[in-house]
Amino acid sequence: MPLSRFPRFRGLLASERGNIDLTLHFEEVQAGIATVVGSACASVALICQNCLELMTFKLAIDVNVRLVKTETELQALSPNVDGMVVESPKLSLTELLEDDLILVLPMAPKHEAPCSELARVTETDRRRPFADLSKLLLKREND
Ligand SMILES: [Zn+2]
Repeated sequence: MPLSRFPRFRGLLASERGNIDLTLHFEEVQAGIATVVGSACASVALICQNCLELMTFKLAIDVNVRLVKTETELQALSPNVDGMVVESPKLSLTELLEDDLILVLPMAPKHEAPCSELARVTETDRRRPFADLSKLLLKREND
């Protein structure tokens, strides 16, 4: 399912490209009462709040939502059951998943490895020409 199907969630990301991988199925709890169960995962692009470079964040959410037909039914659910009112015959996956996707995004995303290490790699690359130069000098001395 493309990220573009989640307008609010997409707005929080550094890139709109990508997909949400869904594994969902329905379980009938009682006759006529269904729960949608499964998981959703995705790799999304965020901006690291430390070094302001792009980073990939892997998110995963568990889905376990009771589908009900009215607000009254929703309020009658026990507090530890997630519920959603589905009025049309077709379930909106955007409505089902978007709030949870937003909730798992980190408030201040940061690279897992310290950003300074990334910076150090760049520094080493920059030093390479000098390393080659010293080798050259060494060679000349041997000559
Ligand atoms: Zn960083």
